[in-house]
Amino acid sequence: MKPSIHKSTGCLFSVGMFYVCFLMPLVAAAAELPVIDAHIHYSHDAWEATPAEKAVEILREAGLKKAFVSSSGDEGTQKLYALAPELVVPVLRPYRKRGETSSWKYDESVITMLSERLSEYRYAGIGEFHAFGEDIELPVLRQVIGLAKQYGIYLHAHVDSDAIQRIFKLNPDALVLWAHSGFDEPDEIRAMLEKYPNLWSDLAFRNEHVLLDQVAPGWGKLFMDFPQRFLLGTDTYTPARWYYVVEHADWSREWLKSLPEPVAKNIAWRNAEALLKKAGY
Ligand SMILES: [Zn+2]
Repeated sequence: MKPSIHKSTGCLFSVGMFYVCFLMPLVAAAAELPVIDAHIHYSHDAWEATPAEKAVEILREAGLKKAFVSSSGDEGTQKLYALAPELVVPVLRPYRKRGETSSWKYDESVITMLSERLSEYRYAGIGEFHAFGEDIELPVLRQVIGLAKQYGIYLHAHVDSDAIQRIFKLNPDALVLWAHSGFDEPDEIRAMLEKYPNLWSDLAFRNEHVLLDQVAPGWGKLFMDFPQRFLLGTDTYTPARWYYVVEHADWSREWLKSLPEPVAKNIAWRNAEALLKKAGY
């Protein structure tokens, strides 16, 4: 049997149920629909396996119009930005290395680092950071929210809905990109989007909104009711996730076809552009 290459994944199909995938799916579909990936990390442990030149090549291979990149530490983002300033949108992560997702909240030196880099480089946002509920009241978190306000940039927040409410209580004009849409159910996401007009929601590292390459029941109405609020993202939170950037963009192009074209375009890239504009980028 003659094997064939699956267009969007680069997988080599063979007999029966088995198929073999190339490590790097370079046989990507032509980039019909531009896509902005709003959730990319290029952290220190990815630098060796995927050098900056290769990382930029992957972002281009995916047909990305832009990639919002935040890294532990920020040098990773700056490496990519230096190679592709038209493609890479720098977002400032409060982590210097892996393993700081909990400890950073109590570490005042984070604020010094953020302040120094904000005065030296240009960013569209601060994040992605992890926090839950009452964490938002901690001095470090309050200062992070204050810095985003001072620079007029967005917060990329991996938080629960309680924390979302606390952020907007501290700064009702905050711009917030809600990482993974809080891993919440459509009803909870809807409640937050209804309440906060400056809340955008990324779909990174989620797949329950898609069933057989179509928008899943319960999600379609949410996308239609809030056509200007959802963004796409791969979330390359481990080095191995870089292998999915191309596949994720192509998979997104597939399921977006089940939405009316203007809504698909919004989720694919226009909402991300709108957020950048709001953030003065
Ligand atoms: Zn992430």
